[in-house]
Amino acid sequence: MPNVRNSLAADTRPDLGSMDLVELESALAERGHQRFHARQIFKWIYAKGVTDFLDMTDLSLPLRADLAEHFRISTPTLIRKEISSDGTVKFLLGLADGRQIESVFIPDTPSQTFCVSTQVGCAMKCGFCLTGKMGLVRNLTAGEIAGQVRLLAGELGLRESKFNIVLMGMGEPLHNYENTMKALRMLNDERGLAVSPKRVTLSTVGVLPALERLATEPLMPNLAISLHATTEDQRDALVPVNRKYGLEEILAAARKFPLKRRNRITFEYVLLAGVNDTPEDARRLVRLLGNIRSKVNLIPLNEAAGISFKRPADERVDRFAKILADAHLTVSVRKSRGRDIRAACGQLIVEGPQKSPAQQAAALL
Ligand code: SAH
Repeated sequence: MPNVRNSLAADTRPDLGSMDLVELESALAERGHQRFHARQIFKWIYAKGVTDFLDMTDLSLPLRADLAEHFRISTPTLIRKEISSDGTVKFLLGLADGRQIESVFIPDTPSQTFCVSTQVGCAMKCGFCLTGKMGLVRNLTAGEIAGQVRLLAGELGLRESKFNIVLMGMGEPLHNYENTMKALRMLNDERGLAVSPKRVTLSTVGVLPALERLATEPLMPNLAISLHATTEDQRDALVPVNRKYGLEEILAAARKFPLKRRNRITFEYVLLAGVNDTPEDARRLVRLLGNIRSKVNLIPLNEAAGISFKRPADERVDRFAKILADAHLTVSVRKSRGRDIRAACGQLIVEGPQKSPAQQAAALL
């Protein structure tokens, strides 16, 4: 039968871009091919950015043809790229099912950093975050998570360079545990981009069972916990998942979290004017983190239409930071990057029920 596919029908060929090396070997073996070709293919995809089987010139022509017929390598496609006055680049990416996500490149911090999404939308609904307003549309596959890094590295010419990855784009990584961890393993593989877990930071609201599981992972990224509040009531209001996994439990898990020498857990704290930015809040934060190997990253709110909270004045931010620093906590204030193109923390949102830009334009007429 001729190999004709209706372009509208879902492509059901297995996605090699979502397989780690071991799975790739098995997939090839099942089709009667030699396992060692998996390494070659892995290298093409990750080290060289080649995803068209026909271009994989160290494979025989019959093998290339067989692979092209039976497998696909799905990579997000670049829909739009916006460059901020501070050099931050926001990428709007399209997925195979037409959904869209955003990834962000943050240059010179002093390293090069890719901020990557793990879900389309997010189920956590933190009161100050635009992505939460979308709700959860779906999890990203491991291939879609790793694919963002492949695409950005290629677009930015950084495939040969060292870069950091922060899982701080759209979504809650620990709410998509399997695919997130698998993507990290694929990105870590030395035949590909060889991204060391030391260069990866996973940011989470603290989905407790997943956090406890993370503590047992052989491949361990740096951990950032989005705290944002110092009492259960206050956190219940700002981070709804706290009603299920409370502040005390999260901190207990953090206390037990296995840290390599000199490594620390980052606690992120969004500062909201008049809500959680008082000197009492700062002092409570000092008490809560007293016996945890931690550092605090204060994030003055990035305001957005549809978010009712306000960003505190700089003096209030400084006063809060000083109380922490005086108590010998390591504290940094996150510089907002890419705000002019809505690429800053909590500003990632793909509007509407996933309409195309053309549909969005039409809706405005
Ligand atoms: N789901 C993960 C990743 C979210 S994005 C998590 O919650 O950690 C990374 C950080 O940006 C989180 O700490 C998040 O709370 C914060 N953030 C969300 N909305 C924000 C906003 N409008 N302004 C500043 N920071 C925000």
